[in-house]
Amino acid sequence: MAEPVVLVINAGSSSLKYQLLEPVSGRSREGGIVEQIGEPSSPVADHDAALRCVFDRFAESGIDLKTCGLAAVGHRVVHGGTRFYRPTVVDDELVARLTELAPLAPLHNPPAMQGIEVARRMLPGVPHVAVFDTAFFHDLPVAAATYAIDQKLAEKWQIRRYGFHGMSHQYVSEQAAAFLGKPLTALNQIVLHLGNGSSASAIAGGRPVDTSMGLTPMEGLVMGTRSGDIDPGIVSYLWRTASMEVGEIESMLNHRSGVLGIAGERDFRRLRKMIESGDTAAQLAYDVFIHRLRKYIGAYLAVLGHTDVVSFTAGIGENAAAVRRDALSGMAGLGIKLDERRNTTAGTGARRISADDSPVTVLVVPTNEELAIARDCLIAIETRAHDG
Ligand code: ADP
Repeated sequence: MAEPVVLVINAGSSSLKYQLLEPVSGRSREGGIVEQIGEPSSPVADHDAALRCVFDRFAESGIDLKTCGLAAVGHRVVHGGTRFYRPTVVDDELVARLTELAPLAPLHNPPAMQGIEVARRMLPGVPHVAVFDTAFFHDLPVAAATYAIDQKLAEKWQIRRYGFHGMSHQYVSEQAAAFLGKPLTALNQIVLHLGNGSSASAIAGGRPVDTSMGLTPMEGLVMGTRSGDIDPGIVSYLWRTASMEVGEIESMLNHRSGVLGIAGERDFRRLRKMIESGDTAAQLAYDVFIHRLRKYIGAYLAVLGHTDVVSFTAGIGENAAAVRRDALSGMAGLGIKLDERRNTTAGTGARRISADDSPVTVLVVPTNEELAIARDCLIAIETRAHDG
């Protein structure tokens, strides 16, 4: 029998990433991104047009989505709130429930819901599955998930630390265990997902015990355009003193902060060139990024007591050897010793970059969120078949 294929859709506000893959072998048949959705002068007016564009691209490559043996369409949904964490087959009720969650993730959930709506209309004969970025962290220990604020308010408004990038943290920790030939349950791990959005997690025996993102994906590490941790007093200070509206402050913290806010550039490849040409703001942005990252590594070493593995993943984690070196330098006393030659040798799959005598193994593990979503889709379909 031919292997099932799954179409994975990751719809953001102005872009739609897609990939058609075989979840069992992991082979990707076709994938890409439609950008500038809804921007002035863009030919792609909305998510409807974006998905039509995806269909056209598949047709150009000789793939007819209606006849290619599609087993499911997987949709990445950033926020599942307190209620949704298992990959779930989409029906009208789920759409209604997820739409209610929009206030928890106003930047991320509405475009995903649009993607689901349009894709269900265009591919009505296949199950659509929602896969949640928050799922892996659903049962974070309560001490790690709780904000020290008025608990009545927290309960009423579902304020807790949810964590994001769950697919990546789970996938990378499983890959790291497989690479080392050890059971997941026997390992303590720190996973550093460093991309445009960045997050860290501490994982004990396959279960997350802490993660750096919180109620929203703004908390934690310094990111491309997001501030990560700040004193919450800054928000009220700007509101009161600079007369900024809350929406303006939120937009500033999401889109004009982080590395971009300090250096005027968010892309790490260009940031590196700026640093080499002597740009002091770029150097400062880099230093702040590294400082925060080191703080989280130290914190998670303490949370775990000891770690067996530290893994780097995503665009920066997989490619920027200098970031890996600077994040871990001077940590021999904590059991972490990089091998600089291994660190700077490019490679593709999972690879070890620590020295042979390093008590902690340091790995580069390429993430594959699309594959994780596709595999979750098969689980959701099987679960539904068993339940119903
Ligand atoms: P997203 O969160 O959008 O999925 P990615 O995981 O693709 O982001 O990461 C994007 C980041 O990775 C950018 O800052 C980019 O500059 C950085 N990056 C990609 N390739 C390299 C590279 N070869 N060297 C350094 N940084 C890189």
